Amino acid sequence: MSRGTKIVATIGPSSSDIDTLTRMIRAGVNVVRLNFSHGKAQDHIDRANLVREAAAICGLEVAIMADMQGPKIRIGKFENGKIQLENGDKFILDAQWGEKGEIGNQDRVGLDYKALPRDVKPTDVLLLNDGLIVLIVDKIVGSEIYTTVKIGGELSNNKGINRQGGGLTAPALTAKDMEDIKTAMSFQADYLAISFPKNATDMEMARQLANIAGEQYGHKPMMIAKIERAEAIPVLQEILDASDGVMVARGDLAVEVGNAAVPALQKRMIKMARASNKLAITATQMMESMIFNAVPTRAEVSDVANAVLDGTDAVMTSAETASGKYPVETVEMMAAICEEAEKSEICKLDADFLNVAFTRIDQSIAYAALFTAHHLPVKAIVALTESASTALWMSRHDIDTPIFALTPSVVTQRKAALFRNVHTFKLSQSEGSAKVLKAVENLMVSNGVVKNGDMIVVTWGEPMGQIGGTNAMKIVKVGDH
Ligand code: PGA
Ligand code: MN
Repeated sequence: MSRGTKIVATIGPSSSDIDTLTRMIRAGVNVVRLNFSHGKAQDHIDRANLVREAAAICGLEVAIMADMQGPKIRIGKFENGKIQLENGDKFILDAQWGEKGEIGNQDRVGLDYKALPRDVKPTDVLLLNDGLIVLIVDKIVGSEIYTTVKIGGELSNNKGINRQGGGLTAPALTAKDMEDIKTAMSFQADYLAISFPKNATDMEMARQLANIAGEQYGHKPMMIAKIERAEAIPVLQEILDASDGVMVARGDLAVEVGNAAVPALQKRMIKMARASNKLAITATQMMESMIFNAVPTRAEVSDVANAVLDGTDAVMTSAETASGKYPVETVEMMAAICEEAEKSEICKLDADFLNVAFTRIDQSIAYAALFTAHHLPVKAIVALTESASTALWMSRHDIDTPIFALTPSVVTQRKAALFRNVHTFKLSQSEGSAKVLKAVENLMVSNGVVKNGDMIVVTWGEPMGQIGGTNAMKIVKVGDH
């Protein structure tokens, strides 16, 4: 319970059995990511069921994040599965190659994204395979893009293509994504991550589709915008406003904006997200070497710790836990790094909320609780909440006091699984302030968070038992009646 930063773990072949998954959750996974770039609908449904089962075994509420593939622009296949490109080679990307069943060879390969020849011009830089191969566009002739290899290497089937600087017009939601959103809503994915959105409209459209697909289950997912296009950067604020959070998707982002620009962007995105009352996830290659090794590199340890110091809600694993050799160890290691980084002085900053002006009563109460915890030796802040929004506001500021969202809703518990510094318990008692406060104390004591004599701050909406905004706060000395 002492770790505040959350862990999002991608699952795949290395981690899709109940035993491994249970061990990963016990080691600290708060959110499981299902990557819709791989596998069929039924695979994701099966995995979602497995996650719910493993979470139940552990007695924990774990969120599921369904991550849409998006318009990843890919090349076609090769005769022998791959080719070797040398610097200076000529190579053609051909949108029509494959229409009659042709397969890629040393001279040319087909394209999944047929509009690419219209989106590029001579001298453009195309990056393949996450930027490992660099092609310079010489000319475009009909469906053919003639290029010269600037940096060669092995190129295999279906590798992704990015254009340096961004500017590809592919819409964020493909027909496959629209189907996948329905699949994700059929198991009520708590979070939906949208790949390659370029503006607020992409996110609004995705949310609308998700809400329509979720309606029959009474479900509305939290929407995460993956920031991985150059075009998204100048419109980050509008994307944030249209989303519940962002993912710093460093893999594709680095290819589009250049590796060197990513660390500062990460800090800016996290800061902007928090200031906008939104969530932030830091993703990709955090523990990359643990795909093969039982211990991370020093640089990876620092990367995770730095994301914690930046104020990220969560750190994420990709291949480390999806296809790597050490899924459980990766999570253990991340959890330990987060916990240690949070002890740092730099992390206990923040009196910034003292200067914020509020317009909402519930928000004012949330900050009043933070203020109190900042000044009195309070062991925990307890927010009685239906939607977890009070807990979200509280968690946008670093404070050395854990926040507990107590709610009758498991859906709210799962949603809050991603919030930094927020823990949840299920609380069914909702009538009569005295009874509810007693139930709160019992729950906090029986879970070992506090003992008699400790001070806690509790916030709720008065009158209790009615859905309504938080408007009350009480400083409670546990056991004092
Ligand atoms: P992906 O997104 O793993 O779905 O590509 C994350 C990233 O691009 O960093
Ligand atoms: Mn990506």
